[in-house]
Amino acid sequence: MPLTDYPEHVREAVAATREVVARLHAELPRWGLVVWTAGNVSQRVVVDPEHGPSERDLLVIKPSGVTYDELTPESMVVCDLDGTLVDGERSPSSDTAAHAYVYRHLPEVGGVVHTHSTYATAWAARAEPVPCVLTMMADEFGGPIPIGPFALIGDDSIGRGIVDTLRESRSPAVLMQNHGPFTIGQDAKAAVKAAVMVEEVARTVHISRQLGDPLPIPQDKVDSLFDRYQNVYGR
Ligand SMILES: [Zn+2]
Repeated sequence: MPLTDYPEHVREAVAATREVVARLHAELPRWGLVVWTAGNVSQRVVVDPEHGPSERDLLVIKPSGVTYDELTPESMVVCDLDGTLVDGERSPSSDTAAHAYVYRHLPEVGGVVHTHSTYATAWAARAEPVPCVLTMMADEFGGPIPIGPFALIGDDSIGRGIVDTLRESRSPAVLMQNHGPFTIGQDAKAAVKAAVMVEEVARTVHISRQLGDPLPIPQDKVDSLFDRYQNVYGR
């Protein structure tokens, strides 16, 4: 159904979400996480629950093949949770199916980010989880950053790999093998933060390994750091 057929409060929520998603895209080049048109941010459109749950079933994502300098709120694309175009002048990002799969299967997730940020993707190329050797990793990720399966674009396999891996982990980030990081959050801003943090810790742990073997943090200490941080700051 075209966006013009949705009730006004949904169209207002879509317009507000377009602003947020367009603004957050600027964070990806700002933190050095993307080159050219790679990478994307999406957010679930949330409307007042008194209007009914079915109206949550939209997402806003970056258009395909547009450079970061050209992104505007109006250029953002609206899709339903099957990834079908609802509103937009351009095609949605080619990663939309993966984002939509995550929203369909993880109802608590309100934002998804994907990049090919260099250090995180270097670990993904080796299919090696980033070990939990930093207190900031225990805080943010609650353990190692897991590896998702090798999956090709074109069907649900990337989305399924993300969801299956993150369900087994406290981490809001997964490194898809030979590909790169996908991150989730309660909204797009939280997912962008996770994308920044996963690159930061991937870089730091890589540098630490050039010096020798980083020391693991005992599991009970990881647990107490994670619990404290998540309870103090929320997630
Ligand atoms: Zn990608």
